[in-house]
Amino acid sequence: MKIGFIGLGNMGGPMAANLARAGHQVTGFDLAAPCPDGVAKAASAGEAATGAEVVITMLPNGAILRAVADEVIAVMATGSVLCDCSTVDVESARAVADQAGAAGRGALDAPVSGGVGGASAGTLTFMVGGSDTAFATVQPLFDVMGQKAVHCGASGAGQAAKICNNMILGATMAVTCEAFALADKLGLDRARMFDVVSTSSGYSWSMNAYCPAPGVGPQSPADNDYKPGFAAELMLKDLRLSQQAAEAVDADTPMGARATELYAEFVEAGQGAGRDFSALLPLLAARGRG
Ligand code: NAD
Repeated sequence: MKIGFIGLGNMGGPMAANLARAGHQVTGFDLAAPCPDGVAKAASAGEAATGAEVVITMLPNGAILRAVADEVIAVMATGSVLCDCSTVDVESARAVADQAGAAGRGALDAPVSGGVGGASAGTLTFMVGGSDTAFATVQPLFDVMGQKAVHCGASGAGQAAKICNNMILGATMAVTCEAFALADKLGLDRARMFDVVSTSSGYSWSMNAYCPAPGVGPQSPADNDYKPGFAAELMLKDLRLSQQAAEAVDADTPMGARATELYAEFVEAGQGAGRDFSALLPLLAARGRG
């Protein structure tokens, strides 16, 4: 397939490389990042999109996505599909899909989970919003870049699934860290707490697969001095998107709101910047209630 790939950063670079390695004809564009091996370099987003059957974007936020979409939709072939894999606000995803639809192009919002490791290994999970036809067109590419693509519904449904998942993740990680900090102060050994909780009703992905306590449970960023992994800044971005969406539709999300405040404090006060999102544990363990 002839593919335009815009945004070749930490995630987009390896995703584009995997598509090229699978035999697709990939032309890429990024304002700063280099083109990976096998990907032809374009001089602009418009050039990368010209003549492509599918244009994939992997960009930092909704404002940038809208600007890039403005540039590429006009030059995309009729019937081609714009597939945005970035994590952006639901409103931007829907606006871009409407704009593409009005111009006779298909559109999907297809944010991912799996991080840079999943992008490199081709084991991402895609959460996809858009039409059946557009989904069917891009499915073979999802199969190359990922292990699973779930068609969640109409435009925006992929982003909705992503932020709901990550709101659960942020709140669950925060309370898992709190529980370890409380256990410390109660004199309960962390390894014993893991043994109990990981096989009891408090279990979760945060506890069982990504334990925030160093030396406890399976290998996780906690065992590597909290180097990301999943950076606290990215968790904060996703939590803020969840709260923006909740405000837009008047949904009450008290735990998501509190997790957002906690991660904002963690990242913006400095301790969380550049660290894994599970590094809330040493912060909470070191302080008291006041
Ligand atoms: P990144 O900052 O490494 O990559 C973004 C790239 O977009 C950069 O290389 C930047 O130069 C490029 N860019 C910005 N504006 C551009 C423009 N107008 N035209 C062309 N290129 C432009 O970020 P990333 O980690 O690759 O994340 C990309 C997206 O994936 C984000 O929306 C992020 O939330 C999401 N995401 C990231 C992870 C992760 O673990 N890194 C996991 C899941 C989802």
